[in-house]
Amino acid sequence: MVPKHFVLMAVVALVIVFLMGFRICDGCGISAKKTFTFADTFATCYECIQKREREAREREWRERERERQARERERRAREKERLEREILEREKKIREAKEREAPQETRQRINNILDSVRLYYSNNRNWPDTLDQLRDPINKKDAWGNSIQYKKTDDGSFEIRSAGPDGKFGTQDDIIY
Ligand SMILES: [Zn+2]
Repeated sequence: MVPKHFVLMAVVALVIVFLMGFRICDGCGISAKKTFTFADTFATCYECIQKREREAREREWRERERERQARERERRAREKERLEREILEREKKIREAKEREAPQETRQRINNILDSVRLYYSNNRNWPDTLDQLRDPINKKDAWGNSIQYKKTDDGSFEIRSAGPDGKFGTQDDIIY
């Protein structure tokens, strides 16, 4: 049991403290700062006000930072997409150019084989039986990656043939010497 005059003294002390302008902070629960109006019972102390402002600024900064990063990610994604599109387009153009030049390129390779076959004839007085008998380093594939066919014909001559774009021998698109 607390003596009555103790309680009375405590109440009087609190009233004096209140009258002097001390208030209880709604943030930290303690304060000795006379920064409040007389009518306030609860108020926020200077440290807590600063702390809350600091936290608010932090939150705002983090929010802006998140938005900035989101924009940056979006920008990078768009840039990556643009680059990929550009690469695909370039590859397509190269493929198309190769496709366009393939017949000409194949004719050139057939001509090189022809030169080599003629040189063989000059040295041997006979056409080679196969291209393997040629000693020159020649490309034996057409521009579509298929082997160029060489064969001697019954009339004592020879034929050099690419299967053409369709890769099949004996069709209309064959390129023949
Ligand atoms: Zn406080």
